[in-house]
Amino acid sequence: MIDSESPHAGARATEARPPVGRFAPTPSGRMHLGNAFACLMAWLSARSAGGEVILRMEDLDTLRCSDLHAEQIREDLRWLGLTWDRETPPQRTRTAAYEEALEKLKARANVFPCWCTRGSLNLVNAPHASDGHPIHPASCRLRSPEERAKMKGPPAWRLEAPDLTVSFRDGVFGPYAENLKTGCGDFVLRRADGVFVYQLAVVVDDGEAGVTQVVRGCDLLSSTPRQLYLYKLLGLPAPDYWHVPMLTDGEGRKLSKRDADLDLGVLRQSRRAEDLIGELAWRSGLIDRREPVSARELAGEFHWERLKKADIVWAS
Ligand SMILES: [Zn+2]
Repeated sequence: MIDSESPHAGARATEARPPVGRFAPTPSGRMHLGNAFACLMAWLSARSAGGEVILRMEDLDTLRCSDLHAEQIREDLRWLGLTWDRETPPQRTRTAAYEEALEKLKARANVFPCWCTRGSLNLVNAPHASDGHPIHPASCRLRSPEERAKMKGPPAWRLEAPDLTVSFRDGVFGPYAENLKTGCGDFVLRRADGVFVYQLAVVVDDGEAGVTQVVRGCDLLSSTPRQLYLYKLLGLPAPDYWHVPMLTDGEGRKLSKRDADLDLGVLRQSRRAEDLIGELAWRSGLIDRREPVSARELAGEFHWERLKKADIVWAS
């Protein structure tokens, strides 16, 4: 069992080093209100404790991401008053680092070639993981070298999910645990087209940058045990996690990039940054009154305990 509760209670706490937080936007479009909220919370968490903030563009999907979107995101962050201390290299430039990590994982765990497709996985009569995807079948993992030699085309690379329960304490949602074998199954590290997956890239990047706080949307909560397992295998110190509630409309529907009226390009036409941050802070429970406030003002009185744990309703 990996128990990552209070991973920084040891070395870092005694050295009393300030935390290192990060923004990790995907530059595939204009920043959305939900991304702005996650960035605000990451910034408040780090800055209120005198910490540093790193910016990193998560542009593994090179077809959808662009430098133009990346620059717009930087500009939107500046407009919101969410400053950062340094920007680490974007993920599309980090293939060599991910390859090195993959080689380490091959030496330390069972990383095997996989030719399964989404279609073939759906045909297998297998149990399903917590998020609904079919658990990868052991028959693929147990192929002999001779059988593998006969397979056509480049494989994806998967990591065997051991019968291991990973638990940690999320700063918002409390204790969370998952058995990797039954709750998730063998997971892909590198796709057949050569692209590394988010799970590996985020661990390598945050680990190398010395990130100690990961603040992100709660849609990523269920991927955290996989990432903690990768941290352990790679010998990198794991961060603490806060998964913040999602923004929803009045009917409980999650707001997303489809809601174009909630991107910063549109919102900035009718609101000041203080209006937007004040509204987010009030709706999420950080302040009691609906009033304009700057990110800097909020940092002075920020407490994680005030954040609501339920979905945050954004409705006019
Ligand atoms: Zn497979």
